[in-house]
Amino acid sequence: MQITSGLPENFNPDAYDMIVVGAGYAGAVCARRLAENAGFHVAVLERRDHIAGNAYDYLDENGILVHKYGPHIYHTFNERVHNFLSRFTKWADYQHKVLANIHGTLMPVPFNHQSLKLAFGEERGEQLFNKLVDTFGRDVKVSIMELRKKSDPDLAEVADYVFENVFLHYTMKQWGQTPDQIDPSITGRVPVFIGDDDRYFPQAPYQGMPADGYTPLFERMLDHDLIDVYCDIDARDIFEIGDTIVRVCGKVYGGEIVYTGPLDELFNLDLGALPYRTLDMKFETLDMDQFQPVGTVNYTTSEDFTRITEFKNMTGQVVPGKTVIMKEYSHAYEPGSGQTPYYAILEPENRALYERYLERVQDLSNFHPVGRLAEYRYYDMDAVTDSALNLSDEIIACHA
Ligand code: FAD
Ligand code: UDP
Repeated sequence: MQITSGLPENFNPDAYDMIVVGAGYAGAVCARRLAENAGFHVAVLERRDHIAGNAYDYLDENGILVHKYGPHIYHTFNERVHNFLSRFTKWADYQHKVLANIHGTLMPVPFNHQSLKLAFGEERGEQLFNKLVDTFGRDVKVSIMELRKKSDPDLAEVADYVFENVFLHYTMKQWGQTPDQIDPSITGRVPVFIGDDDRYFPQAPYQGMPADGYTPLFERMLDHDLIDVYCDIDARDIFEIGDTIVRVCGKVYGGEIVYTGPLDELFNLDLGALPYRTLDMKFETLDMDQFQPVGTVNYTTSEDFTRITEFKNMTGQVVPGKTVIMKEYSHAYEPGSGQTPYYAILEPENRALYERYLERVQDLSNFHPVGRLAEYRYYDMDAVTDSALNLSDEIIACHA
């Protein structure tokens, strides 16, 4: 597929039935579906110098596949999403495993049967496990916040241990707040698992890595005669948002607009900035075959960084004598600083601010915000794909 850097001088928005802002999952899925199912001529505008959004990966100077914006592991229960994405990639079998470094001992996370035995010793760990099974059942997930509500002394002992040693310090590093202060859905992403499955995403029927990387998946998705991709172009430079119309390059635009960036940016943050957490990612190339036993080790009781990812352990690449690791340092996002807004901060007042921005685009009948940024959601790749498939269904139906 061909990507043009910048917009040609004779760029004519009216030559397109749809303009998509952002070449991540949200934008690429909508572009492909509208080109394919409605015969739309689509322009995709991306301000970075590459496609694939935060899922972008590339081969470094040693041929090691690196995820530039943090470790991305594909996992879903959603069959429609899986079938759609599988058109653009084969999947390499990969079951993500994470260990928590708890005072120097590596224990599986989500905290499970094995973790209990490592934390409490074989005999006591088994007793506590049996108590958990009797209370909740076997092979079930229980969020730490649920577990903490139990008054039974054995369950309280487990809850206190897991809260203190898995969640408290990690969450403070990641969010600058305690687990009690953040939305329970966030810690609920990593529930205690009452069983032996030691995968990070236990029970998800579809898991893996795109066989040759995420970027090639996007190249195939965007490779369509009716899709033109322009990188290094910030849509805000050519958009003017009115109350009921959007001008593109100075002319009222009559086609559809799919927007996948942050909504506050469109209005120069004039109602206030939507709060996000960002990450500093420190990559290191090491002269060794392997640094750690699994894809990711979470540092839940020590260090300033939250986790270390070793990419070769996720992709299964064999590159003797070299490996790349990455440490994540989380802090508050400052708009205009060049940082990436990675995580929406799910608090009612932030949601209310988002809704006020959303109201501003509600009367723009051809303007469609979608994706992790534009919807201000904590979406995984599958959830973004699902949202974009649903939006494209709606736009296709309107033009049928
Ligand atoms: P993005 O990928 O952010 O794409 C939006 C694109 O729009 C960007 O490329 C941006 O440059 C562009 N853009 C924005 N504004 C403009 C503008 N004005 N003009 C032009 N272009 C613009 N999900 C999983 O399923 N599994 C994982 O393991 C996983 N790990 C993650 C790890 C980290 C550290 C992070 C931050 C996220 C992770 N995710 C994971 C989530 C995943 O990254 C997102 O769900 C997905 O990438 C969101 O896609 P999107 O298209 O909504 O947004
Ligand atoms: N979490 C934690 N300790 C862990 C793993 C997760 O405290 O070892 C909490 C933390 O608050 C984190 C949230 O659970 O932000 C969600 O974790 P996940 O791994 O899903 O985060 P992501 O991969 O999206 O950064």
